[in-house]
Amino acid sequence: MVDEKIPNDIVAGTWSAPVRSPPSLPSKADLLIIGGGIVGVSTAWFLARQGIDVVLCEKGHIAGEQSGRNWGWIRQQGRDPRELPMMIESSHIFAKLEEQIGEDIGFRRSGCLYTATSEKDMQRYHDWVETAREFELDTRVIDADTLSDLAEGVWPGIYGAMYTPSDGFAEPHKTGPAIARAAQRAGAKVLTGCAVRGIELSAGRVSSVITEHGPIQTSLVLCAAGAWTSMFCRSLGVEVPQLKVRGTVARTASAANIVSGALWHKKIGIRRRDDGGYTVAHGSILDHDITPSTFRYAPKFIKALMQELEVLRIRIGKDFFTELAIPRKWSLDEPSPFEKVRVLNPETNQTVLDEIRVSLDEVFPQLKGVEIVESWAGMVETSPDVVPMIGEAAEIPGFHIATGFSGHGFGIGPGAGKALAAMLTGTDQSVDLSPFRLNRFYDGSPIRPGSSI
Ligand SMILES: Cc1cc2nc3c(=O)[nH]c(=O)nc-3n(C[C@H](O)[C@H](O)[C@H](O)COP(=O)(O)OP(=O)(O)OC[C@H]3O[C@@H](n4cnc5c(N)ncnc54)[C@H](O)[C@@H]3O)c2cc1C
Repeated sequence: MVDEKIPNDIVAGTWSAPVRSPPSLPSKADLLIIGGGIVGVSTAWFLARQGIDVVLCEKGHIAGEQSGRNWGWIRQQGRDPRELPMMIESSHIFAKLEEQIGEDIGFRRSGCLYTATSEKDMQRYHDWVETAREFELDTRVIDADTLSDLAEGVWPGIYGAMYTPSDGFAEPHKTGPAIARAAQRAGAKVLTGCAVRGIELSAGRVSSVITEHGPIQTSLVLCAAGAWTSMFCRSLGVEVPQLKVRGTVARTASAANIVSGALWHKKIGIRRRDDGGYTVAHGSILDHDITPSTFRYAPKFIKALMQELEVLRIRIGKDFFTELAIPRKWSLDEPSPFEKVRVLNPETNQTVLDEIRVSLDEVFPQLKGVEIVESWAGMVETSPDVVPMIGEAAEIPGFHIATGFSGHGFGIGPGAGKALAAMLTGTDQSVDLSPFRLNRFYDGSPIRPGSSI
């Protein structure tokens, strides 16, 4: 039974309304952020609270791309250790966020479970618990009986799980927009329907940003453009190795409470929603549509691609030709690629949706037949070591980048926003951003993917 009170497009409503253009354009800003995803809006919120005159330009909708389409997991467990300080900080921010911004984002600290289908998985989890200990996290490995107490599923062939009670979730369709409104209340100017076409330089450094509605003078820019970052930066002569994979996601109607947090199983990823339904996805299928970027960046991505080979369904299709048709540079006086695709809205994979249905019924018999009321897809952008790329572009003083958050940028987003605001204003640097420096892929450092997409 579909709950009548919950609109069928509660998630897709984030990106399906007509795009609203700004009524007016500020002529200048202390700092301009490109991109209204979780990273952009969180940074704007922290900056505005410091009294910085910040403008955020979003070509489409706030959280209209990855940040509104993800699974909503706020997870410390299983991460690359480089991300943990920022992620732990993010988890603390999430815990107080609703109180601080005065809005509901559906946050619950209700734990995260990764099930194991082999002794090898169990060993990996035990190894990660050592990392957790270093960071004083509450992660532990549990046996199949304890798993049954935490989640009502059918667990043949499941050896146990890794479990972090302090992990949680929030509703992505609520979170980004709520933080953007908080940023506005703190003084940030948040402009939707405002694509940034490029930047202009004076004496070799950033002097203004050219939007589709005109120029905005500024000497500091943060490019948090998600899946568009590599293309935007390339037009400026800055190489950012980035590839995209497509994930298909679905939402069920309200149903029995079989798990109160998030659970990953090889066949299904499932997370309780604040509306009583579940956000579900395949546990190990991502689509990669080959594009010219695949060839351009393949040497840097080879380790990540090998690591994810079992998970990736690789094909060549229309995305190849769409990307091929985009010029490396464009005129700033004409509509740019960012206005032509206001919202990156990839198609769902029907085969994956069918497999989700089968796995849901098989692994969680109590949910057998529960209606899938909404489905969507999102393009995850990733870096060669599946860890973010953060820093100032050496080629253009004043131009900073924050991208490559891979399949786990929602949870770390507010922590990244806080660290980025500190980096941009040169204030407190409690989180060391050097592991995320952009040139690590070009200075001969070994590329080591430390977690999965
Ligand atoms: C299916 C799926 C499942 C995921 N599950 C999880 C999860 O459970 N937990 C987790 O932590 N993470 C998850 N992620 C990853 C997470 O969603 C991303 O890492 C995170 O949202 C990235 O945020 P962002 O702000 O960097 O980018 P985005 O959210 O992509 O935002 C970038 C914004 O920039 C705008 N933009 C681009 N170019 C321009 C321009 N020139 N001018 C103006 N605006 C521009 C875009 O329109 C976009 O809105 C998932 C992602 C997907 C797709």
